[in-house]
Amino acid sequence: MTQTTSAPHHEHGTAPPAARYDAVVEAAVQQGLLGEGDPVAGFIDTEGVRASVGALHDAFAATPGVLHTFAAKACSLIPVLRLLAGSGMGCEVASPGELRLALEAGFPASRIVLDSPAKTREEIRLALALGVAVNADSLAELRRIDALRNPSTTSVLGLRINPQVGGGSIGPMSTATDTSKFGVALRDPGAREAIVEAFRERPWLTRLHAHVGSQGCPLELIAAGVARSHELAEEINGTLGVRQITSLDIGGGLPVNFADETVRPTYADYVAALTAAAPGLFSGHYALVTEFGRSLLAKNGFIGARVEYTKDAGGRRIALTHAGAQTATRTVLMPDAWPLRIGAFGPDGIPKSGPVVAQDIAGPCCFAGDVVAYGRELPELAEDDVVVLYDTGAYYFSTPWAYNSLPRPAVYGFRVAGPTGAVTFATVREPQSLDSIAAESGLAHVDALIERDG
Ligand SMILES: *Cc1c(COP(=O)(O)O)cnc(C)c1O
Repeated sequence: MTQTTSAPHHEHGTAPPAARYDAVVEAAVQQGLLGEGDPVAGFIDTEGVRASVGALHDAFAATPGVLHTFAAKACSLIPVLRLLAGSGMGCEVASPGELRLALEAGFPASRIVLDSPAKTREEIRLALALGVAVNADSLAELRRIDALRNPSTTSVLGLRINPQVGGGSIGPMSTATDTSKFGVALRDPGAREAIVEAFRERPWLTRLHAHVGSQGCPLELIAAGVARSHELAEEINGTLGVRQITSLDIGGGLPVNFADETVRPTYADYVAALTAAAPGLFSGHYALVTEFGRSLLAKNGFIGARVEYTKDAGGRRIALTHAGAQTATRTVLMPDAWPLRIGAFGPDGIPKSGPVVAQDIAGPCCFAGDVVAYGRELPELAEDDVVVLYDTGAYYFSTPWAYNSLPRPAVYGFRVAGPTGAVTFATVREPQSLDSIAAESGLAHVDALIERDG
């Protein structure tokens, strides 16, 4: 039975996707990047990324010397990081792996900021030896830095605070709640005094860091957190009688609009909110560092996936595609928090038209919840069609989940040539091979658990 009208559950993001990437989807199918053999792939708009970086720099143009870093976790692919390095970005990293990627991509150590929440001594030692900036997440971590720091290090050293300004609409994305695991909880009893003391004891501690939250946090909340951080810096410098704090790392977290094509809020909106909440921030007294991820990449990428089968079950139409939890993890696990716009294309990569049908768009993973959209009204999908998951340039195909030993999908960058409209692709990451899956699943130790005699 085919439903054409019923109001589905979890209905989100039904605005028709713009035709912006139609030619790219068609070219990807025609050029064989998406097909039987490779049923899912990620795509990145190279020029779009450059334009987003340009918009960020333009918004802060009145403030010289801002170091804009890209939060590597949002798109942890070396060619993407190199594109960003070449576009004038620095890099925010939060693990030894991300640090390695940033270095391989060519970011100079002086433009890298290390924010890992659980830094090991080895990780701290390496960062200090390289001259990477380090934001300590706690007073305990500061004590480790005391022990490891060589006075000749060129690393800028900072302390992350949690301004405890509250959370946004997505709990797991809210880092400034009263009980968040991040930073030193500023409003806890005695915390302010302890932070001032920590700076007094360490003349080399010169930066305050706060990252209030990501998707779901309104601009005003983020700006309020930055304002608390700025006030604290003023208070510390005032109390110590010396401008010891010379820079503020104001984090990232600009939310992304997943409901339609428009970019909102913009970086200019963000700067306006900051100016309103903390006018002194732009006084020139503090060098600024930003750490944006999702807002730079999300709208500059999409996932394309084949429809392998369709079926009906209990009155619902289901399309079984290759885009599931392995590449759209957050959307599958938290469908209400992370709705995605979905486009329907034919086997030739051309947009489908015709009457819409409410369809569940399911993925290839073996658990019942592996569905990226419920009851989505789209032209009726059929075997060999292609679905597109828009706005997935950050935290989707670049952050795969190894569930069911599904391979990491290939990723391609694309450019659309001006007048001809010809689309060219560049491989960013090959699709993962079965050999690679076997290797990372312990192939080298195949006999490890077998009892052997003698
Ligand atoms: C994740 C993260 C960011 C980037 O957040 P987005 O929402 O992707 O902009 C910035 N700073 C820190 C410390 C982070 O953990």
